[in-house]
Parts: sequence; structure tokens; C-alpha cells
Amino acid sequence: MNDTAVKSNAADFDVIIVGAGASGLMCAIHAGRRGRKVLLLEKGPKPGLKILVSGGGRCNFTNLWADPQAHYLSANEHFCISAMRRYGSADFIDMVNAYGIAYHEKKLGQLFCDHSARDIVDMLLAEADKVGVVLSLNSEVTSIRPVADGYEIHTAALKSAAQKVNSSQRVRSVVLASGGLSMPKIASDLAYRTAAQLHMRVVSPSPALVPLTWNNADRLLLAQLSGVAIDSMVSAGGQAFRENLLFTHRGLSGPAILQASSYWRPGDPVEINLLPDLDLASWLAAQQQQRPKALVSTTLKAVLPNRFVDAVANQWFRDQTLGSLSNVQRQQIVSAFTQWIFKPGGSEGYRTAEVTLGGICTEEFSSKTFEAKRYQGFYAIGEALDVTGWLGGYNFQWAWASGYCCAQYL
Ligand SMILES: Cc1cc2nc3c(=O)[nH]c(=O)nc-3n(C[C@H](O)[C@H](O)[C@H](O)COP(=O)(O)OP(=O)(O)OC[C@H]3O[C@@H](n4cnc5c(N)ncnc54)[C@H](O)[C@@H]3O)c2cc1C
Repeated sequence: MNDTAVKSNAADFDVIIVGAGASGLMCAIHAGRRGRKVLLLEKGPKPGLKILVSGGGRCNFTNLWADPQAHYLSANEHFCISAMRRYGSADFIDMVNAYGIAYHEKKLGQLFCDHSARDIVDMLLAEADKVGVVLSLNSEVTSIRPVADGYEIHTAALKSAAQKVNSSQRVRSVVLASGGLSMPKIASDLAYRTAAQLHMRVVSPSPALVPLTWNNADRLLLAQLSGVAIDSMVSAGGQAFRENLLFTHRGLSGPAILQASSYWRPGDPVEINLLPDLDLASWLAAQQQQRPKALVSTTLKAVLPNRFVDAVANQWFRDQTLGSLSNVQRQQIVSAFTQWIFKPGGSEGYRTAEVTLGGICTEEFSSKTFEAKRYQGFYAIGEALDVTGWLGGYNFQWAWASGYCCAQYL
């Protein structure tokens, strides 16, 4: 690989935005609409890669009920309120409607494209193009340094498979929109490195909205259940989520687990109620009266998947006739299925995580302008900051809102 050092001046641009993901594209569009000359630097070969793969290729682009006080995690839970109030899901929906993009509500206010996530990327690129945003692909920003009149941005641009060109450019304003660590193939730790260089605090990043893996004992018993789904209540870190839980070869996944994973800390247990709508104690007592000769496993199969009951029979409970159950044994069955204490071996990590929990500490930034309090002209938006949404379109809504609001002050 040939590395060539080139010095250039970005006097042609008012602002450089680092990262052509959800927040960077949104910020570029609105800064452009305000007449700013924008250079958008993107490490990858395509803009909006994460948008393209999101929502199973259909992009859950917002949530009708996104509430900054209910659906976001941050060391400063008030930080996201201002931007989310200034740019709500209705604002993004207006843009989607203006482009005639077909969409539907899947559940719980989650809006998905009818056809493809590409519709959203194409819309953003068309809007960016209209206002003259210059997009430079295969351009990885390697460092951002404050200088007397702004910032020096160092970039390693891939000119061909064999040639990488290093350059540095000066600009008055820079927006860090380089996201978090999920999807390691496109992610970079630029946000955290830059923050450390500027002596800003970083809330330690960790994978979130991520499947949890088996411990050794549960793997032997439960990995065979891959594909089984159960509507459950899953609790971790004081927060409970009612949705599907999915068994996989590696552990537990499904929306209820992904949501709970953002509140789970390594070493902690997760509590699972596999029958949240049933008063299992009373129901079992009634079954004992009505069908004393029936086996516990046969009885449980009326309310839980057969494969699951077969796997845990004689492990989680002794498979005997209902009539022979003592009160203590009945209570043990109730606990096993409604208060399953699952101790994950770990999580699947950034490879499958949808988002990064933590990020640059928001106390370093204005929640109105997204400008750093101690560095004039330095801005950060989106997932690079310590703001993480729930599963369900909340993370894109934060990216759109923070990108839009920041652009109003560039
Ligand atoms: C598989 C998957 C599915 C998801 N589905 C949904 C969903 O349906 N709904 C939802 O709300 N959220 C979803 N998310 C989360 C959502 O994609 C992110 O929260 C959102 O994209 C964050 O926006 P961002 O602009 O901060 O970062 P990103 O969209 O990640 O953009 C950051 C950009 O910066 C670029 N970059 C990184 N480092 C550098 C560098 N050094 N120099 C130049 N460029 C750089 C990256 O290549 C990337 O293009 C999903 C995430 C994943 C991984």
C-alpha cells in the first residue's frame, strides 16, 4: 500500500462533518439548507451503511411515541429532551411523506419502510445533493486537532485498493458524527479517541441491544431450543420489557432480551417470567383438581411450547402426576417458569449489537447547539454521544434530531 502525504486547505468549506451515517447526513442536509458549505467525510465505501442494514433491510426509521424521558439511557437523562422536542418523529415523517416513501407501523409505534431501507438513504442523499453537500467516501478521519483558527482534520483516503493518501485540512467547524462501535466492519473509535485527546470524559462504551449468551450449564440444556420464541417479561437493572424472547444456539435473543440487555451488566442475572399473563399458581391448582392423573409436562404444554417443556422436564421440575404434587413442589414449578433467574455467560458483543451504550459525556456539550462547552467550533451528535435509545426506531430518531438541531447553529 502506497501512503502519500498531501496537505490541503479546506477554506472552501464552512464545516466538515465526520461520518455519513444517520446523524451526519441529517446534519449535512440542514447545514446545507442554511447556506453552509459542507464537506462530509465517510470512512466506508457507501454512505448510510447502517441505515441500509437496519430493521432487517426495512429501516425502523422512527417511533411515533418516542419520548426523551422514557426511551433513552444516558448518564444525563435530560440531555436529549431539548433536541427531541425541537425535532420529533412527525418532522421526519413529513420528510418521508414528501418523498412518497411507503411505510407502515409494525407494532408499538415502530415505523418501517414497506419496500427497502434504501428509500431512506436515497432520500437523504437526494436532499444532501440539492444543497450542494460534498461527500467524500473511503475517507477515514484519523485525528482531529484543535489549532488557532479552528481544527485540523487528518484523513487517510483510499484512492485504490493499493493506494492510501494521507491529507490534512483546516476548517473552522467540525461535527463528529462517527457513531459508536457496533458493526465493527464500519465502526471506528474516533469519537472516544478524539474526546480523550481533548480531555473530555467518556462514559465507558459497551454493546447494547445485544443478544445474551449461554452459561455452560444452560447451553447444554437449552441451546437445542434454537428457534423457539416465547412471549415473556424480561427484567434487568430494574427495567422490565414485555415482548418475545427467542432461543438461539448461542443464547437468548428477541426483542425482550435485546431491550433488557441495555440495562444488564456483566455478572448480573436477568429475571424472566415466561407466563406473564397467567396466574400460574392458581391455574396449576385448578388443573390439579380437574386432571389429577395428568403429567406436569403435559399440563404445561397447554401454555408453553412443547419443545421447551420437553427440554426442561426433569431438570426444572420432576415430571410427575399433578395429583402427586405437594404444595412446595407446585410453588417450585411456579418459580421456575415465572421467576427464571438466567445468568448470561456474556453478550454477543459489538458484532451483533445494534448500538453502543455510553459515549462522549454529554456534560461536555450544549444540549441546544451540540457545541463543546470548552471547544468553540467542535460539535458531536448521534451515537458518538452518551445517549442510547431503546429498540424500536428510537436510535434513528435521536440521530435525526441531534443532526437537525446541531445544523441550526453551524
Ligand atoms: C444491524 C443494525 C440494525 C439497526 N436497526 C435500527 C433500526 O431499525 N432503528 C433504529 O432506530 N436504529 C437502528 N440501529 C441503530 C442505528 O443504526 C444507529 O443508532 C444510528 O445509525 C446512529 O447514527 P449515527 O449517525 O450516530 O452513527 P452511524 O449511523 O453509525 O454513522 C456513523 C458513520 O461514521 C462513519 N465513520 C466512523 N468512523 C469514521 C472515521 N474515522 N472517519 C470517517 N467516517 C467514519 C461510519 O462508517 C458511519 O457511516 C441499528 C443498528 C444496527 C447495527
